[in-house]
Amino acid sequence: MSAKKDYYEVLGISRDADQDEIKKAYRKLAKKYHPDRSDDPNAAEKFKEISEAYDILSDPDKRKRYDQYGHSGIDQEDFSFDFDEFARGGFGGLDDIFEMFFGGGMGRSSSRSRAQRRPRSGQDLKYKLEITFEDAAFGTKKEITIPRQEDCPTCGGSGAKPGTSRKTCPKCQGTGQVRVSQRTPFGQFTQARVCDRCQGEGEIVEEPCPECSGEGRIVRRRKITVNVPAGVADGNQLRLTGEGGAGEYGARAGDLYIVIKVKPHEIFERKGNDIHCEVPINFVQAALGDEIKVPTLDGRVKMKIPQGSQPGDVLRLKNKGIKDVNGTGRGNQYVKLKVVIPRSLNSEQKELLRKFAEISGEEINPESKSFFNRVKEAFGGN
Ligand SMILES: [Zn+2]
Ligand SMILES: [Zn+2]
Repeated sequence: MSAKKDYYEVLGISRDADQDEIKKAYRKLAKKYHPDRSDDPNAAEKFKEISEAYDILSDPDKRKRYDQYGHSGIDQEDFSFDFDEFARGGFGGLDDIFEMFFGGGMGRSSSRSRAQRRPRSGQDLKYKLEITFEDAAFGTKKEITIPRQEDCPTCGGSGAKPGTSRKTCPKCQGTGQVRVSQRTPFGQFTQARVCDRCQGEGEIVEEPCPECSGEGRIVRRRKITVNVPAGVADGNQLRLTGEGGAGEYGARAGDLYIVIKVKPHEIFERKGNDIHCEVPINFVQAALGDEIKVPTLDGRVKMKIPQGSQPGDVLRLKNKGIKDVNGTGRGNQYVKLKVVIPRSLNSEQKELLRKFAEISGEEINPESKSFFNRVKEAFGGN
């Protein structure tokens, strides 16, 4: 106990801070150090310290004793937050078994037994964001509007009418549970049930905030700017921590997941970080070679078609693909040649091609010559 930190220091507030400041400081720190959320290895310990400090300072009576006598003015019974329970990760073991029978936690023999319900964290939300192929390649900023639950601005999430505050529940004295004796085939049990006055929260709102009717949260349409990183792919999810629905008073907000949907491109197809496309050339370009312009994400670039290119040949444009979403390197663009044979020719063209065939003789198609040689070998003669 002697090594305990000063509660005001823990919350980072002055000794004359009012309830609002205490609440604000607590909510900020609790969000930061909530063990479900923080990466800090000491988060659980810090969260415990913060909760303890808040527990004492938010109660005028306990705060007075603490101000007067320091930590020695406070004893374990003063905490409505059960740290041992918390450290064990909630309720388990026997209680769970009895819960199946009786639909409620069994009271423990210990006088310190607490069944206070921890406030629920906010809802995770999902938003499907459709972007263009180019936006996925280069990254973009998109403004979206989502309806979500937010802390009520009038009461700051407490649910209490401004000027009033949440009070310890008179029915359960803040423990969140009431004891009920019950006769069963196994004998008489004293059962602890969730307090029906405060729903296990241990606190009640006597004068509800007029804006949120005591809920502490209201639904609002909120504009959020989403930074879409370069290189995202169809189906990727971006997580915006804490941008989901607001939690119950004292609990963290949920997260917002942006599910990326990339519209198909007219020309490009993506495979990993590479881009594939098909470019039509004519048979003269294929035979003689040429230099053509090919569309890429960076605009048109020159590409050399080698002499004697075949239909279906694939040429590579290095580093014209998509930037890796993790920031290392860029893919390539692969260009497949589609050799187009003219469907109709005028008489002059026909004449020239016949002449071409004539002077080429057997050599007009060396590959078909070797093909028919192989046919001969396979079928013997003819
Ligand atoms: Zn309110
Ligand atoms: Zn109660």
